[in-house]
Amino acid sequence: ASGVARKPDWIRVSRADSRDYAETRRILKDNALTTVCEEAACPNRGECWSQRHATMMIMGETCTRGCSFCNVATGRPDALDAFEPGRVADAVAKLGLRHVVITSVDRDDLTDGGAAHFAQTIRATRHRNPATTIEVLVPDFLHKGEAWTEVVDAAPDVFNHNLECVPRLYPSVRPGARYYQSLRLLDEAKRRNPSIFTKSGLMVGLGETFEELRQVMDDMRVAGVDFITVGQYLQPTAHHHPVDRFLPRDEFRRIADMARSKGFLAVSATPMTRSSFHAGEDFARLQAA
Ligand code: SF4
Ligand code: SF4
Repeated sequence: ASGVARKPDWIRVSRADSRDYAETRRILKDNALTTVCEEAACPNRGECWSQRHATMMIMGETCTRGCSFCNVATGRPDALDAFEPGRVADAVAKLGLRHVVITSVDRDDLTDGGAAHFAQTIRATRHRNPATTIEVLVPDFLHKGEAWTEVVDAAPDVFNHNLECVPRLYPSVRPGARYYQSLRLLDEAKRRNPSIFTKSGLMVGLGETFEELRQVMDDMRVAGVDFITVGQYLQPTAHHHPVDRFLPRDEFRRIADMARSKGFLAVSATPMTRSSFHAGEDFARLQAA
């Protein structure tokens, strides 16, 4: 046995052979940018990059955390690159993005967790691309006091932080994180600026029950979370957390129905849903409504 469960046929790795795919890769490379699409070995890369959608990952390729589901390398990160915000802004312009998702590794080594760098990246991106909507997918800022307020005050359009899994599984899935810290961050971000949409996501197939998912959704709604994403967890390598099971599509429909019934403004729950998958379209639909 290889140690990685065989994937059912509804889990598809999208093709990566279009001209726009190559162009996306070139722009990212020219701008020396890291993407979570590559670092997380995302199966949607062919589809997203062929539409020139990429999710930038700032503050380096090395993370101070070691979540058991995540393919990003753990270790001591490099110093921050003061030119990175400008290169993100430039890549967004060259890619012609109407909506950009910017995420990062966790930077427990920095006193502000990287909040100022995030804020600067938001400001640089907006300055260069005033019509582009900006979504940030941020770390939990655990033990960083009020540093997160700087990110909120840079006024992204969407403030996203993933709870990732149900609280019972935190010790094995997100050992460096605390469920209530993540929930509190979403709650306080919403209170600080209610005009910013908040968003959170979960992976399923890690061993959670339907009742536990219901509880997490209730927690999110109490914290005022507007958008939710739910996708199938895939094990990147044999060293990562095992897949408990692959949920069939009708279970995802049940999860989506439950989310809608709880009042989330945007719901994406399919096997291939990722936090940043089709994020722009969901947002555009909402703005048009
Ligand atoms: Fe990148 Fe997100 Fe698309 Fe995956 S779903 S390829 S991480 S933009
Ligand atoms: Fe991966 Fe984020 Fe966890 Fe770091 S904090 S290991 S980047 S999921």
